[in-house]
Amino acid sequence: MLTAAQRDQIDRAAEQLAQDLGLDGYVPGYPTWGLVAGHLLDIEIAETLTCLKCGHYGLGHVGFVAADGSHSWRGFAICPECGTNEEF
Ligand SMILES: [Zn+2]
Repeated sequence: MLTAAQRDQIDRAAEQLAQDLGLDGYVPGYPTWGLVAGHLLDIEIAETLTCLKCGHYGLGHVGFVAADGSHSWRGFAICPECGTNEEF
């Protein structure tokens, strides 16, 4: 389980991501089309990853979906301790 502080860290990192990566046209969220279980697997995998930067075990995951309905989306694992992110 994530603490409130860790949840905040992930939220902040996600906001930063949206700006840094120029995720114009993408909004936070997960796909609602196709195999809806696909991103659930990504979330589960993130929970078993170790942060490459600080070594924290168990990463959060955030998704962004294209706002134009083009069925495009991107997912990122985010460390709840240091905010490091990795797309996958
Ligand atoms: Zn970390």
